[in-house]
Amino acid sequence: MTLEDLLTSLSSKIRLALRRDPEEKTIVRVEEVEIGGDRIAVMAGPCSVEGRDQALQTARGVKEAGASILRGGAFKPRTSPYSFQGLGEEGLRILAEAREETGLPVVTEALSPMEVELVERYADMLQIGARNMQNYPLLKRAGKAKIPVLLKRGFSSTLEEWLSSAEYILREGNGEVVLCERGIRTFEPSTRFTLDLSIIPLLKGVTPLPIMVDPSHGTGRRELVEPMSRAAVAAGADGLMVEVHPSPDRALSDGPQSLDLEGFRNLMRGLRPFARAAGRGM
Ligand code: PEP
Ligand code: MN
Repeated sequence: MTLEDLLTSLSSKIRLALRRDPEEKTIVRVEEVEIGGDRIAVMAGPCSVEGRDQALQTARGVKEAGASILRGGAFKPRTSPYSFQGLGEEGLRILAEAREETGLPVVTEALSPMEVELVERYADMLQIGARNMQNYPLLKRAGKAKIPVLLKRGFSSTLEEWLSSAEYILREGNGEVVLCERGIRTFEPSTRFTLDLSIIPLLKGVTPLPIMVDPSHGTGRRELVEPMSRAAVAAGADGLMVEVHPSPDRALSDGPQSLDLEGFRNLMRGLRPFARAAGRGM
């Protein structure tokens, strides 16, 4: 199937999320930060906000290393109900304090339509997680949100399903949608998921929406985060989402895939030549 054929087959179900001409591209603004423009946007921070010191220390460190947006979960979608579920609104308050101090805009997840209002109040971008990519009430509410949306790919979702979910948001009037590839389920057990980098150039061919890559959840292993970040940028990603923790071995969630602050500084330093080769700044 050629790219033209793919576009034609998608166009019976998807309208706003499809590109109308090859030059069309959407630039999403999160406060002062552009996603989908000339520069690679890097979102970094802890998987979960665990407390004030942990979040502020991480925010300062990632800012100094050159991150442009702070990430951190306050409402956590955990597989086990016995795992740490996040600090809730208290976590949002801590994120807002970190933004105040560092100037970094904040992206954080809402799990249900009811939580969107809180996220709008405290944060600058709303994250919809992989497990909620097809939560239609949440997508519709996100489409009415006053802030941009980061839509992560469901780990068993096709390109068509993913863009259809973006369409739900766009259709409600929120045109500020960024897609994020975060790994899909395959037969391979040595990585947590399989990072599908081929989806980047494919999406670039059919949608004007910016595309980020999350190599942390995508691999589940911190030693793979740097090489996959480089590969993502080389393949044309507009940005990265990376989990960073001051002491990953003590993290309450996703420690094995989190970089420490030094690891993140090294990642940022090593990324520049790849960004340059892809025709982007950082
Ligand atoms: C996250 O980014 O915090 C997260 C839970 O990721 P995902 O939804 O991709 O699993
Ligand atoms: Mn995580």
